[in-house]
Amino acid sequence: MELYDESIINPTRDEFSYLWGLNKKTIELQKQLKCSACRERTFKILIVHLKAEDDHEYTECKIVSVCGCEDKYEDLDREYINPSFYHSIVSIADYYNEQTEHLSDFPEQLAILEEEYDYDIKKFLQQLQSQFSIHAVALLEYNSISMDGEGEWSTEVIWKDRFAFGIKKSFEGSFDLI
Ligand SMILES: [Zn+2]
Repeated sequence: MELYDESIINPTRDEFSYLWGLNKKTIELQKQLKCSACRERTFKILIVHLKAEDDHEYTECKIVSVCGCEDKYEDLDREYINPSFYHSIVSIADYYNEQTEHLSDFPEQLAILEEEYDYDIKKFLQQLQSQFSIHAVALLEYNSISMDGEGEWSTEVIWKDRFAFGIKKSFEGSFDLI
């Protein structure tokens, strides 16, 4: 199944390969990834949001660093790119969510599926050519809390790599994207 245009993906160095080759330099790098306040490891989340202005759609991408500190985060990068980035990442996530439901009784196949999801997302993220290694991807969600449409934004993690199991699934607010 072709989910997105292969030609828009620019081959770049695999940002994730460093995790497999732990050497002295990498260990130094890992130390720097700790928050100076809580001493917990920090994670970089890519938040992807579709915006529209005068019939013109675009994807707003923001990379934030989060840690164990409650409600604290650091803005690292913000980019505005074509709307297909948002639509593609949503269809990849939808496809794997659907497959996951079908395979809920088959743990071995689920594990393979998860690896495929990892592979597809990481490959897709390469087109951002970000200097940061992204540990998780999240989308904004508007949750209505009353009948008149009043609600609150939350940030929902749709993918995280296996080293980022400490990341929460859901964050309150929109990380100032709204
Ligand atoms: Zn912290």
